[in-house]
Amino acid sequence: MALSGDVLLSVEAAQALAIDGLQRLGSERVGLADALDRVIAAEVTSAVDAPAWPNSAMDGYAVRAGDGTRLHLVGESAAGAPLARSIGPGEAAAIMTGAVVPDGADAVVMVEDTERDGDWVTIRVAPRVGQHIRQVGEDLRTGQVIAVAGSTIGPAELGLLAAARRGAVTVARRPIVAIVSTGDELRELDEPLGPGDIADSNSLMLAALVQRAGGVPLRLPLVGDDRDALRAALSEAASADLVVSTGGVSVGAHDHVKEVVASLGGVLTAWRVDMKPGKPVAFARLGQTPFFGLPGNPVSSFVAFWLFVRPALRALLGARQPFDLPKVQVRLLQGIRSPVERRHYVRATVAVDAAGSLTALPMSRQGSHQLTSAAGANALVVVPAHTELVSGGLVDALVFAPISAT
Ligand code: AMP
Ligand code: MG
Repeated sequence: MALSGDVLLSVEAAQALAIDGLQRLGSERVGLADALDRVIAAEVTSAVDAPAWPNSAMDGYAVRAGDGTRLHLVGESAAGAPLARSIGPGEAAAIMTGAVVPDGADAVVMVEDTERDGDWVTIRVAPRVGQHIRQVGEDLRTGQVIAVAGSTIGPAELGLLAAARRGAVTVARRPIVAIVSTGDELRELDEPLGPGDIADSNSLMLAALVQRAGGVPLRLPLVGDDRDALRAALSEAASADLVVSTGGVSVGAHDHVKEVVASLGGVLTAWRVDMKPGKPVAFARLGQTPFFGLPGNPVSSFVAFWLFVRPALRALLGARQPFDLPKVQVRLLQGIRSPVERRHYVRATVAVDAAGSLTALPMSRQGSHQLTSAAGANALVVVPAHTELVSGGLVDALVFAPISAT
């Protein structure tokens, strides 16, 4: 595809290009203790019925429904310690939650509906057959699908896998993501800052974003605005599963990323997107490896990561829905003036108000160099181009971190 210098791609077109042709990398077996947040690579079924035997949902007495109100106690069935005999006519057994219902019993009466007198119990409320008994397979059946390929393992899924007696699962291999910060002005945290120097804020931030997305970040040493150094760094980076660079992607005299990518045989599939912040982004392949050249301004690279790089990473994980930021409608607590000519992703705090509806408070400073606009924010309010939004108006927001109550 020929890329004209002045045509801006829509965000949607760029997003389609970001994941185009990407497939799951490979898979590995991991034990459940290491499986949190991993993406399932092959369907998992239950190895067992759960419950495996009828068990009590209450503390009380296992009885035969219809046997009358005064029953003789023949023992106790506790969780993990079943009663070794069955219940005959006129008999009952004390039973605890989770304990096996003894043979012969067909109902459980909760302790609150009984009166005990030594080896005898009086039932005050006539039981129904099956009452307070959890039946075999009520939660899981052997062979039942409990996790599908492309789903992410959360805490409940982990518990379910354990209940299903699956101690190990096949998950997608984590993509290794090389991160290359470029710019003569950048310094590592332990280096002194000379005149004009700044801290490299992007690579730590991007490494954290990669980790959150399920990848393994690999931060490469800082690269100056030098073609040869950049070329060496990017060709090394290409052995990762995905490469992200920041800086040097625009049209300044010292912006070499596009030229170096081309010299490595990379063809730009996207350049310049109709959004703010983050307009200059460059997508290409370095060999087979997807490459994303993000702008240097920290907020631009932050926003571009969420919109383009995370979906690509999730596609490499085989995630069912690589675009996983929920879009919700929010009520603005403050107007967003100064309309811009491109779609504006305004960093904001989305919260739930007393009435249960979602509100958004835009962060006060919205410059693409101002990371204070992203720190503490949990959403990007999507402001269409040339649009001024008034306080109280409804607008879409992409949520990237948990929403809390106001
Ligand atoms: P560039 O995209 O190279 O034109 O850089 C745009 C702006 O982002 C400049 O002000 C750079 O100093 C700044 N910048 C570039 N890379 C980084 C980085 N890794 N951390 C923080 N700021 C950066
Ligand atoms: Mg630069």
